[in-house]
Amino acid sequence: MKLTFLGTGTGIPQARAQSGLIMEAEANGRKKPLLFDCGCGVLQRIYESGYDHRNIDTIFLTHLHLDHVSDVLGLIKANWLVGLAQAHIYGPAGTVEWFNKLMTLYPYLKDKLQVQITELTGGTVLSVADCTISTAHGCHSVTTIGYKVERAGRVAVYTGDTEPCDSLTELAQGAHVLVYECSFPLGYEVDNHTTPDMLAAHISQHSLHVDRLYLTHLYPHMRGHEQESIDHIRTVFPGEVHIAEDLMQVDV
Ligand SMILES: [Zn+2]
Ligand SMILES: [Zn+2]
Repeated sequence: MKLTFLGTGTGIPQARAQSGLIMEAEANGRKKPLLFDCGCGVLQRIYESGYDHRNIDTIFLTHLHLDHVSDVLGLIKANWLVGLAQAHIYGPAGTVEWFNKLMTLYPYLKDKLQVQITELTGGTVLSVADCTISTAHGCHSVTTIGYKVERAGRVAVYTGDTEPCDSLTELAQGAHVLVYECSFPLGYEVDNHTTPDMLAAHISQHSLHVDRLYLTHLYPHMRGHEQESIDHIRTVFPGEVHIAEDLMQVDV
């Protein structure tokens, strides 16, 4: 399974686009990109990644903060402009209301799109394309869903925004790839998000074992602190630790 980071940043403008990544599944013998989050800049990154937006009709949202959803309607409209009106959005409670409110602002789209929305909660297991997708709630300022994607015996987990959180750790235990948010540098005082020291303490406490850890959702504050973040986590974590970059591709 191939994972492509589209956006590894947050709500503040920087070289990184806001949140988004693709996990590549297969359906009917064809590659099927599953998009997770779609913040501002992700639509452009889809183009730059070489993925065709026309093949992206299945979107999983971790939560409804703007840096995770700003480009959702832009992507759906892009597909509508080329005659593809169908999309399926999976998201937390509130996703239906959010989308319906957007449609009241853009009545010219309202009756032309065929968007199916499935609201998820923690502990859900779904089959999508040739993947099994399981969910757990994160620990954030709003309702948040983390996703585990299993395909052909390989497992990747994406946390979305969260502070270190037991339910996500349980979901991630044993994964080949874990994409964890790490918003701020060592010692930064913050709730609802993660810093390298918070993550290291949590990994240590819960004996979290995954093969490779990728840190994403980096605020500009993290610039220049990348290596110390890796080094700090590696004091307690035996697997590989990487800083995610926009357009980075990894095999799961
Ligand atoms: Zn958030
Ligand atoms: Zn965010």
